[in-house]
Amino acid sequence: MPVFEGNLSKMRGTVSADGSVTYVLKLSADEVPMSDLIGQKLNFEFSGQINCISCGKTTRKSFAQGFCFNCMQTAPEASECVLRPALCKAHVGVSRDADWAQMHCLQPHYVYLANTGEIKVGVTRQSQIPVRWIDQGASAAIKICKTPNRHMAGLVEMHLSKHFTDKTLWKKMVSGTVDEALDLLKFRKEAIELLSSGMQQFVDEDDSIYSLKYPVQKYPIKPVTVTFDKERSFSGTLSGIRGQYLLFEDEQVLNIRRHNGYRVSLSY
Ligand SMILES: [Zn+2]
Repeated sequence: MPVFEGNLSKMRGTVSADGSVTYVLKLSADEVPMSDLIGQKLNFEFSGQINCISCGKTTRKSFAQGFCFNCMQTAPEASECVLRPALCKAHVGVSRDADWAQMHCLQPHYVYLANTGEIKVGVTRQSQIPVRWIDQGASAAIKICKTPNRHMAGLVEMHLSKHFTDKTLWKKMVSGTVDEALDLLKFRKEAIELLSSGMQQFVDEDDSIYSLKYPVQKYPIKPVTVTFDKERSFSGTLSGIRGQYLLFEDEQVLNIRRHNGYRVSLSY
């Protein structure tokens, strides 16, 4: 029985030419091929130890999905603008770390629409396409605007969020009830018409639809989340993976990203 041990971090999803997503989970030096484990019984054991994903120190509690309290308040990757791009001030020289801001905020960004159960508006750095969409479990996505930095993308997103949700409806997503027939081209057109004249200049010409297919044999009907904060060990037969969620036969779902930094062992 293979046993892997390490601190959890976001699964890496890669897409093949037909849009199929394959997942790998890194635990210490090992890369566990999660997609290959569908149909198998997995056993997770949480050691009780959480290490901050920024400084590595042990923390009793995880803040903002994986940080110790200090890093949540000071680390650039836990900046307010990560979740709320419109608040980014890197373009006027204000950030937690200038080098980090240069690499992450002062780079071309896209405003996009994704189908995650409803049509959702979002922002991502150019280099994060399609990773961002995979993490959200979107069935399809389309670009709207390309902006020179994070702040401007955030303003466009804020503007459009009056008409489109900016939340991912995880329950719909993990129960496979996403209506895949929603016409993204039509919504893109609507979104562009809603832009202010100042925002029109950022409209991106690329209107191709990115479709994604997840390795799921069976979706739960009424998904129930498991968390290592409540259960130190957990076993279940993996029935699929979507977004950052592992789906199990018995309706339980495990959000890997929520447990960033948790030290676990995985055997199967
Ligand atoms: Zn830390």
